[in-house]
Amino acid sequence: MYHDVYLETPHESGLQNAGSQKYKVRLCDFEKQVKAVVDHCRAKEIPLSRVMFTFDDGGSSFSKFIAPILDVHGLKGYFFVSTHYLDTDGFMTRDEVANLHHNGHIIGTHSHTHPANLSKCDEKTIEQEWEKSVTCLQEIIQDQVVYASLPGGYISESIIKQLSSCGIHKVFTSIPTTRQEAIAGMTFIGRYPVTCSMNERHVINIFLKHSYVRCLKSIKWHILTVVKSLLGDNYLRIRSEILSKM
Ligand SMILES: [Zn+2]
Repeated sequence: MYHDVYLETPHESGLQNAGSQKYKVRLCDFEKQVKAVVDHCRAKEIPLSRVMFTFDDGGSSFSKFIAPILDVHGLKGYFFVSTHYLDTDGFMTRDEVANLHHNGHIIGTHSHTHPANLSKCDEKTIEQEWEKSVTCLQEIIQDQVVYASLPGGYISESIIKQLSSCGIHKVFTSIPTTRQEAIAGMTFIGRYPVTCSMNERHVINIFLKHSYVRCLKSIKWHILTVVKSLLGDNYLRIRSEILSKM
C-alpha cells in the first residue's frame, strides 16, 4: 500500500495532513523498490500478475511519476481516488484519471472527501461519500467502478453496507495480512503499508512468509487497534497534536 511519490518535497502530491507525510516515498526509492519487486518475482518465478501495487488518495504523482514506472515493467497499478480533490493543486485532473484507466490501470474509489474517520459519520454521510465518488469516477472513466479502498482504514457495518449498494466487489483494507475475507458479497483484501523509512529490502521482505517486516507491521497494527479503541474519539486529536510537534 503506497500513497504518494515525490521528486523534491513530500508536499508536492496528495493529502497534506500531519499523518500523511510518512506515507510519501521519494521517487528514486520508489523506482528501486519496483525494480527490486520485479527482480524478486522473476528470480522466484512469481507471476507479476499476482503482485498488487496500490496507491491511495489521488495525488498528482499517480499519473506524473507512478504510472510511467509501472508501465516500464508492465505492471498494473490500483489507484484509489478521493474525488473531491480532483483538478485541485497536488491532485490528478479528471483527464489524468481517464488516461490511467485507458492505459489499463485500475481506478477505484477512496470516498469523496476522505473524512478523518468515516466510521464515525452518520449513515447518510457514509452513503453520499461512496455514492458521489463512484458516480464521479464512473463518469470519468466511462466504465464500472468495482474497487474501493478504505480511507484511514476505518470500517463499520454502515461502510460495508454502502459499499455493497454502490456495486463494489473488492475492498482494500489497511490490515497487514495476506488473508482475504468474503463479506456481504465483496472480497476484503489486506495490505502492507510502505512508508518513507523503508528501503527496497524492507519491501521485498513483505513478500516473505514470517518475515520481520510482516511481523512488525502486524504487531503495530494490533497495538494501534487497541490504542484506538481505548482513546475512542480522542485518538485522532491526540495523534495530530503529537505529529504537529514532531
Ligand atoms: Zn487515504
